[in-house]
This record gives sequence, C-alpha cells and structure tokens, in this order.
Amino acid sequence: MGRVIVAGGGPAGLAAAIAARQAGLDVSVYDCLRPPIDKACGEGIMPDGLAALQRLGVTIPAERVCGFRGIRFLDESHSVQATFANGIGYGVRRVLLHELLVEHATALGVELNWGARVTGVSGNAIEVDGRQVPFRWLVCADGQNSLLRRKSGLFPAVASQTRYGFRRHYRVAPWTDFVEVHWAEYGQMYVTPIAQDEVCVAFITRDLETRFDAALPQFPKLAARLKGAEIAGTTIGAVTASRLVRRVQSGPIALIGEAAGSVDAITGEGLSIAFRQAFVLAAAMRRNRMEPYQAAHGRIMRKPRTMARLLLSLDQRQRFRHRVLGALERQNEAFESMLAIHTGAKSALDFGVGPAVRLGWELLRA
Ligand SMILES: Cc1cc2nc3c(=O)[nH]c(=O)nc-3n(C[C@H](O)[C@H](O)[C@H](O)COP(=O)(O)OP(=O)(O)OC[C@H]3O[C@@H](n4cnc5c(N)ncnc54)[C@H](O)[C@@H]3O)c2cc1C
Repeated sequence: MGRVIVAGGGPAGLAAAIAARQAGLDVSVYDCLRPPIDKACGEGIMPDGLAALQRLGVTIPAERVCGFRGIRFLDESHSVQATFANGIGYGVRRVLLHELLVEHATALGVELNWGARVTGVSGNAIEVDGRQVPFRWLVCADGQNSLLRRKSGLFPAVASQTRYGFRRHYRVAPWTDFVEVHWAEYGQMYVTPIAQDEVCVAFITRDLETRFDAALPQFPKLAARLKGAEIAGTTIGAVTASRLVRRVQSGPIALIGEAAGSVDAITGEGLSIAFRQAFVLAAAMRRNRMEPYQAAHGRIMRKPRTMARLLLSLDQRQRFRHRVLGALERQNEAFESMLAIHTGAKSALDFGVGPAVRLGWELLRA
C-alpha cells in the first residue's frame, strides 16, 4: 500500500502516526528535534481531547498528572466557573505528553526518526537532510510555520490574530481543581494544575514587550497565590495565532495540527483538535481517498474558531468583558452551557432559549 510519511513528531504528528498505524498502515515519522520535545503550552487537555487520546490507546498514568473538573474565569471583581459535562480534563506536562505518545507509537511499530530535518517535497518524495524519502501519503505536522505547507502549495495561511504566549511552572500545590483563567488589561494568565505540587501558568498577551514578571502584578488574585512559590525550570515562549488555512489537502498530501491552521491558545483546544483530526485523516488514507479529510477538518475547526473569536473579543474590550463576566456570574447556567458546547458535550443548538434570553437580559441591564 505504500508508506505514510509524517513530517513533524509533535503531538499532532505522533497522533496521526498512531491513528494511521491503528488503521493498518506503515508509518515513518521525521522530526528535526530529539525527545523529550518541550514547547510553551498551557498543558491542559480538555475532556474531549482525553477521550481522543484514549481512543488512540495512549494511557496516561494518573499519578503523574493532575485532573481538573472545569474552568473558572476571574478578573478583579468577578469569578465565574463551570464544571465539564463530559468528564474531567488533565494537566499534563508537555514533555510527559510527548514521552507517552512516543512510547505508544514505538510499541505500535511506527518508525521514528529524530534529528531529521525535512527540507522539501517534490513529486511523491520528501527530502530529509539531502536524501529522497518516497511516500504514498504525506502528513505535514511541522507546526504553525509549516515549511511543507508552503512547499506543497497549500497556502496562503491567513493569521487574523497573533499573540505571544509564555509558560512557567511554579512549585506550589494546586489550590483548586479548576483551570483558572485570570483576565486583565494586558492579556490572560491561565493556571493548570499539573502535579500534586506544581502548577503551569501560561501568560498570553498581544504585546511582545510585556514580560511575565512585569505582567504578574496586573493579576493580583493570582500574584497572591504565587507569592513566594519557587519557579521550576525556565520560562519559555511561543507565538499563538488564529490562523486559517483554506486547503488542508491536495492529492496525497494533508496538513494536520497547527500546520493545518490554529486557534488562539486561550481556547485550550489545540491538542484536542489535533487528536481528533488524526482519526479522520487515518480513515481517509485507509480508504484510499484523502478528499473527505478537507470537509472533516472544517467541521472539527468550526466550534473552536467561534469560541476563539468570542474570547478574543473579551480580550480586546475591557468594559465589555466586565459586563459579560458579570452577566455570566449571575447566569451561571449560560456559562455551563457554553463550556459544554466548547468541549463537545452539547451541540450549539442545545444552548436553549431560556439561558440565551436571561443572559441577554443580564447583559442589557449590566
Ligand atoms: C502559550 C500556549 C499555550 C497553549 N496552551 C494549550 C493548552 O493548554 N491546551 C491545548 O490543547 N493546546 C494549547 N496550546 C496549543 C498547542 O500547544 C498546539 O496546538 C500544539 O502544540 C500543536 O501541535 P503540533 O504537533 O501541530 O505542533 P508542534 O507542537 O509545534 O510540533 C511540530 C513539530 O514539527 C517539528 N518540525 C518543524 N519543522 C520541521 C522540519 N522542517 N523537519 C522536521 N521536523 C520539523 C518540530 O520540531 C516539532 O516537533 C497552547 C499553545 C501556546 C503557544
């Protein structure tokens, strides 16, 4: 049947390799880095992402991660929270997630090539460090600045919003089993419990000049929690973008993960999206018809894109955000419904007229 070549061995590439292997295909992965591969990330996997990981057969050892049962939004005067309707999420250190995916891919017989840079594609072969590697199917999972997206003609990719994200670990016992999203004028800091004695704090901002330490006092509730806590390891950064890629498939070539477009990190959905894409892509390759992947990809991205737009509108307008958080605080049912829709537990049609009207009324009178 010919080999599936996956360019990029991050979460999306490894998930694609595992799903393709489960579908009975022969798979090789090429990544220019070597494990354990770290990256700036909030390190939260939502319940729908965990369900997808389970379907991939990846076992997450409960003693090495931390569960969370919902999301809490906070600013200086509001606090509103909702629990997941479809299970729990997990805070998983990025390097641990990578390790588990690598282990599982290896066990399934995926050929993994580390320290191998893909430099081009022509015809039915990619170029890896100067040599040609033939493929039946090529899966490009080389991240948001994907070289292969450009080389294979699957562009333009339009970034509508670009922000900067920084990740830092603090040695402190999680004070809650919710992911907390703290809002302030300079952006958001969100906190994911990742171990019994550690939390991950991701700071997302529009302003590249604003550094983590300078921003923290803008989030007084969080600064109080972190006061005196030891910083573990180094603080790392990455760009986060809402990026639309119109075509994610052409002939035997498909894009996956951030190479195929992305939503702002604040949604916490990047990993879950990639894991879900992996199944539909594997099914398309198995059936020898890549075309259905295009439509399936569009369906997977629709809700996260809408949520990203909504959340970014709160980021840009402070007064509007106050009103919305105040209204959601009084109409908690609406926040619960929004979270259920976001994590796939409910369809948007299930939002319900009652909560919508009550939320609208609260917004008007705020
Ligand atoms: C600050 C921040 C916080 C986030 N928080 C969350 C969160 O809490 N939850 C969540 O679900 N998502 C979160 N995300 C999004 C999540 O990190 C991404 O969705 C995820 O990393 C995408 O995985 P990927 O495999 O597509 O890309 P990447 O992780 O970037 O992997 C791409 C891989 O391709 C390799 N590569 C690149 N070019 C080449 C080449 N030429 N040859 C060979 N290999 C190559 C790289 O070495 C890398 O290993 C966050 C993102 C940011 C920036």
